[in-house]
Amino acid sequence: MEEKQARTYDVIIIGGGPAGMTAGLYASRSRLKTLLIENGLFGGQMTTTELIENYPGFPQGVSGEELSRLMEEQAKRFGMETISDEVVEIGLEKDLKRVKTYEGEFLCRALIICTGTEYRKLGVPGEKEFAGRGVSYCATCDGAFFKDSQIVVVGGGDSALGEALFLTKFVRQLTIIHRRDVLRGTKIYQERAFSNPKIKFLWNSIVQEIKGDSVVRSIIVKNVKTGKIEEFATDGAFLFVGLVPRTQFIRGLLQMDEGGYLLTNEDCETSVKGIFAAGDCRRRLLRQIATAVGDGATAAFAAEKYLEEG
Ligand code: NAP
Repeated sequence: MEEKQARTYDVIIIGGGPAGMTAGLYASRSRLKTLLIENGLFGGQMTTTELIENYPGFPQGVSGEELSRLMEEQAKRFGMETISDEVVEIGLEKDLKRVKTYEGEFLCRALIICTGTEYRKLGVPGEKEFAGRGVSYCATCDGAFFKDSQIVVVGGGDSALGEALFLTKFVRQLTIIHRRDVLRGTKIYQERAFSNPKIKFLWNSIVQEIKGDSVVRSIIVKNVKTGKIEEFATDGAFLFVGLVPRTQFIRGLLQMDEGGYLLTNEDCETSVKGIFAAGDCRRRLLRQIATAVGDGATAAFAAEKYLEEG
């Protein structure tokens, strides 16, 4: 009985990115017994961003690592508990929600899902085989291994452009391979990429295969306009072809769109009463740190109202 009491919370938050940390800050300041479960580093995708220029309050920008550290310190200040574990299943039991992790089980009255997104895989031969041996999804983690080399970056969004710009610190030359001839990323990134002498573009092209021996040596690229297939030598392939929500563990329980993003109303309420979603894992127009933070505050406030009314 005591064991069960000890493991019951007012609010459990899954995910320690900016949405989760903000939800934790708000919930614990409202004196709710709060647990945050994170399976990696606090900060989520922020931790691997070299410089964040669009989060207000830092006119010169701030490193993702530093912003994560500051948010974590603030979120933990008001008594929120944290554990490092991965949630594998959610169950509904009368008024309580059961959160099952690899190492334990917890109960809560309100649940806030802030699990964010992960990088989409390209799904071509060689991608899996050469992961960590020339194929990468993180420039800040792996960029330094590519000093003076010649690499490709795949994708045309903010991640591809931002990470490509960062990679120019290390590499001799990089080619951005994009499936169209118009970039999706923010204009300021586009301007910087177009004016960077180390960056070249290969338009209307898709990667069909990544080849190598012990490490990546080349890629097979198809021009989608002409159909021409060519092999290019490369020392590495950084893949940034979008994101997929981390919502597999709640498939079937909550309503989602076809891409797996959680459907909520503007108060971050999901299709199940007492379960809220905040940040990149929910369907929304814009996915930024600033919007995740706003979501986290809204979800925690909505959870508090739900608990008061229940
Ligand atoms: P994204 O905006 O979805 O862009 C993905 C890119 O990959 C697109 O250019 C897309 O091409 C391409 N792509 C998708 N599937 C492909 C495939 N199978 N083969 C080849 N190319 C493929 O994803 P993201 O760049 O990771 O950004 C995700 C979100 O995070 C966005 O909202 C972005 O603004 C945000 N973000 C913001 C910042 C920042 O503000 N500093 C930094 C990073 C990310 P199409 O263009 O043809 O669809």
